[in-house]
Amino acid sequence: MTENRERWAIIRWQCGAMMQAERLNPEASYRALQTRDARFDGRLFVGVISTGIYCRPICPARTPKFENCRFFPSAAAAQEAGFRPCLRCRPETAPNLGSWRGTSNTVSRGLALIAEGALDGDQASVEVLAGRLGVGGRQLRRLFKQHLGVSPIAIAQTRRVLFAKQLIHDTRMPMTEIAIAAGFGSLRRFNETFQRLFRRPPSALRRKAVASLPEGSVGAIGVTLRLRYRPPYDWPAMLTHLQAHAVAGVECVGNEVYRRTVWQDGQLGTVEIGHLPEYESLVVTIRFPSVRALPAIVGRIRRVFDLGADVAAIGAHLAQDPLLAPLVAERPGLRVAGSWDGFELAVRTALGHQSTVEPARRLVSRLVRLCGTPLPRELCVGTTLMMCFPTAANILAANLAPLDIPSARKTTLMALAKANLGDPSLFQPLTTIDDTVTRLRAIPGIGEWTARYIALHALHEPDAFPAYDIALRRGATGLDCQRPSPAGLNDRAEPWRPWRAYAAQHLWAADAAWQSASHTTARRQPIASSTTANPSVIA
Ligand SMILES: [Zn+2]
Repeated sequence: MTENRERWAIIRWQCGAMMQAERLNPEASYRALQTRDARFDGRLFVGVISTGIYCRPICPARTPKFENCRFFPSAAAAQEAGFRPCLRCRPETAPNLGSWRGTSNTVSRGLALIAEGALDGDQASVEVLAGRLGVGGRQLRRLFKQHLGVSPIAIAQTRRVLFAKQLIHDTRMPMTEIAIAAGFGSLRRFNETFQRLFRRPPSALRRKAVASLPEGSVGAIGVTLRLRYRPPYDWPAMLTHLQAHAVAGVECVGNEVYRRTVWQDGQLGTVEIGHLPEYESLVVTIRFPSVRALPAIVGRIRRVFDLGADVAAIGAHLAQDPLLAPLVAERPGLRVAGSWDGFELAVRTALGHQSTVEPARRLVSRLVRLCGTPLPRELCVGTTLMMCFPTAANILAANLAPLDIPSARKTTLMALAKANLGDPSLFQPLTTIDDTVTRLRAIPGIGEWTARYIALHALHEPDAFPAYDIALRRGATGLDCQRPSPAGLNDRAEPWRPWRAYAAQHLWAADAAWQSASHTTARRQPIASSTTANPSVIA
């Protein structure tokens, strides 16, 4: 216990130091740079006036003089101030913690949408993006300025350059495909931007080492990227969760790798995600016919695998509570798994109504066989990946009789599909949980708990906390051996804000461990919302 306390005292101190960097105290920032302190990577960028280059704090280059340094909270802020990315420390590979900041949900959601290409293309604008987030354009600009120090447009421009730079560096994709994938309107604009920023054409940035990589388009051979996270990362817990919920034909886990089929903008493909602990990264291979979809697919992967979270800082905050301290110490890298697709999650939840994980999973697999879209043969991986999850249109057109489910549940499935066709943004993480719950409740057959469950997981909200969940309350029994009421647990959880979703993961994991230790028959997973596929049975 003493050891734990000391460990967390150190992490709390480190966390405090990071928060200081958030305010960008120049002296503290310079010390981080001098010591090449990896804890500031992704949070702090250093522009060097004498060279015009900006770096990560861990850059191996000689430390510049203090008076030549300018410190920025984001790569975009450094770039907007006129600095260009360093070719040695490669700011595009810093852990992307933008979605984690937790200070403004609107900013986090906006960043996620921009990362998926919301400000690319001629039709896109800050006004349209703001509309999707339920705020005005001026308000969105103000929020971005306040939290990130730059405008949404500057964030989008930096993202394009850094994503293109990663593709140039790590793949043999043709330059024309990279220009499209990164969201540049044309090859000319792509070339001009690189010439201006790096004073050389994009092709000059390509490493000789990539010559050994297979050559070809993303559709033919796939593209492999590394996505960095900030350690620790509990990869076994994440894989166990994904395996427990995997739908046959659509997704599978084998040899420490997660694979699934992807439907994006009417086209089909696959993704494959493994872990490279030595690089603090996930390695992702995407096979997809259109390079335009790359940012959106990468965005989904980041959400499902919770790559934007700084779990050390979150854990340090949660461990101030003696109930959570030992749990956080035991599983420091636990993350909140996101859902791949909101509609898919809603269908799975509605179909699994009042069942446990395993029967629900079998039923969903039958639905997929019944009306999923077959993957083109060249993309199939044996018999494990051969179908894409049904779209709303697939379900509406299908005869669901062979599923052998109560007619009320069939009606709910159809109503979900109709609602999604009528409002494609219904299940997207754009608004608040309460707003989504209200809209979902309007669908026949969707009750309060089901709506809340879907909203919580589809929105990937770091502060969501389903205090009504029985497994969660059991997990919180802890210190005084009393199981809290939902209201009592809500009160107890107040200081855990803004990361109550992470506290919930720890409580569920603790409950799972206690349940399996006491040899009950209940099946539990380390990262799971609860053992039931639908919270109605535990309400
Ligand atoms: Zn550098």
